[in-house]
Amino acid sequence: MSFLCSLVGHEVPEGYAGGTPYFSVATGYTDGVGREHANLKTHCGRCGVHYTVGAIHLPQRRKDRDTIEELQKRLAEFEKLDLTGY
Ligand SMILES: [Zn+2]
Repeated sequence: MSFLCSLVGHEVPEGYAGGTPYFSVATGYTDGVGREHANLKTHCGRCGVHYTVGAIHLPQRRKDRDTIEELQKRLAEFEKLDLTGY
């Protein structure tokens, strides 16, 4: 870590051709209500050290997919029922 970074913190690197920088995502854990947590990581534009920029909540895709699969399973079970006579 450079002396300047130790004084003022790391610098967010520039993106390609001066565009928005990209970060990598390191997944963390899922909390008690099913929300997934992750850390955004990048390297310092000044000293090159990899560091965590911040933490995020991931979109609930897994939970949504699980719900869809559960509904498809229940629909398949429902379609097997013999409902003649009702
Ligand atoms: Zn730095």
